[in-house]
Amino acid sequence: MDLTWNDSELAFRAEARAWLEANLAKWRDQIGGEPLSGDTHEGFAQHLIWERMLFDDQWAVVSWPKEYGGREASIWEWVIFEEEYYRAGGPQRVTQNGIFLLAPSIFEFGTKEQQDAILPRMAAGDDLWCQGWSEPNAGSDLAGLKSKAQKVDGGWVLNGQKTWTTRGAFCTHLFGLFRTEPDSVRHKGLSYLLVPLETEGMTVRGFSRLDGDEGFAEVFFEDAFVPDELPYGSPVLGEVGQGWGVAMATTSSERGLTLRSPGRFTAAAERLLELWKERGGSEALRQRIVEAWIKAEAYRVQTLQTVTNTVEGRPAGAETSLVKIWWSELDAELHEVALDLLGPEAELEGPWSKGWQFSLSGPIYAGTNEVQRNIAAERVLGLPRK
Ligand SMILES: Cc1cc2nc3c(=O)[nH]c(=O)nc-3n(C[C@H](O)[C@H](O)[C@H](O)COP(=O)(O)OP(=O)(O)OC[C@H]3O[C@@H](n4cnc5c(N)ncnc54)[C@H](O)[C@@H]3O)c2cc1C
Repeated sequence: MDLTWNDSELAFRAEARAWLEANLAKWRDQIGGEPLSGDTHEGFAQHLIWERMLFDDQWAVVSWPKEYGGREASIWEWVIFEEEYYRAGGPQRVTQNGIFLLAPSIFEFGTKEQQDAILPRMAAGDDLWCQGWSEPNAGSDLAGLKSKAQKVDGGWVLNGQKTWTTRGAFCTHLFGLFRTEPDSVRHKGLSYLLVPLETEGMTVRGFSRLDGDEGFAEVFFEDAFVPDELPYGSPVLGEVGQGWGVAMATTSSERGLTLRSPGRFTAAAERLLELWKERGGSEALRQRIVEAWIKAEAYRVQTLQTVTNTVEGRPAGAETSLVKIWWSELDAELHEVALDLLGPEAELEGPWSKGWQFSLSGPIYAGTNEVQRNIAAERVLGLPRK
């Protein structure tokens, strides 16, 4: 593996660094200081201003085609941008479930009409997408989902309920899995639907998380009619009845590369190091910081390998489950060490304590780590199911 960057990649890094430095400061001035959490109503609005600044200068979706708002950056450059983004202290991306989860599946399975109409509006933050998969009795066991979409003349009638929909109360559209063949079981007979939330018969009820943010929603469908012809054409992504395959492609992006790039963790490890330099601490703490720092670096190198595989046409498979376990446990570890370093001060609200609270959900969202271990055992190691 060649770990050096070429001249054009170095120039890309310098351009990204300069833009981020200048514009993060501008954004903070505009919103009057440090942003609130993007999972609150007010904070979400602040983050949308930032998303639009990124979009206006083609930094929102660097690797996308120019006509959709990108700058046709390579995946290598995307990794560089992410490193610079978190190094500069860039905020959470409130558009992430659209640009990082749904978009790769739209590129892979969408019609040209869907791509042309959905992607530029998603990149600009004009349409905001949330993920409607989990249901009250279908989380880990996603194939047990019961929400239905029934084909009728001119469209689909939706019934059922989704839950844990991140930022659902602030979004305009939902990508969801629905049972479209009434007697089908498990993974069969599901379709992947793209629906506007402002539809009669759809109710979005926001609710608070344990950390006080209002980032979750339940979405209820009561005879909600979704027409066959939307501004982006059909609401069905991929083939009717083949939703499971499309969903698995989405989870591969979520767990593998796009949702949590290494820049997020290498930047946190560097901040942890700075904290240590400021405060000092016991030898045991020093060891833990070194270990966490090495793990962040290992994740970076592992990601470079994933990118090499992708570029050379070897797409990631079940091993994305191992990646997901790694980044979620690493996130918790980095924050736990920081809290121990801060001592009693850690009890005060601050970026490390807020980050720690969220890191606790890492082993749950994007598929729980217990389930990822099952997948790795069966499909990576080839162990028997029981
Ligand atoms: C912060 C956060 C954001 C989320 N955002 C979204 C979103 O935007 N959209 C969305 O659709 N969902 C979202 N989710 C939901 C998430 O996908 C589910 O919480 C997750 O899939 C687990 O499902 P569950 O909560 O129903 O738990 P369950 O599936 O009921 O699991 C309960 C426990 O049992 C364990 N378990 C279950 N089955 C097995 C098994 N076969 N082997 C071993 N252990 C098992 C689990 O690991 C877990 O510890 C989010 C969750 C969180 C925490």
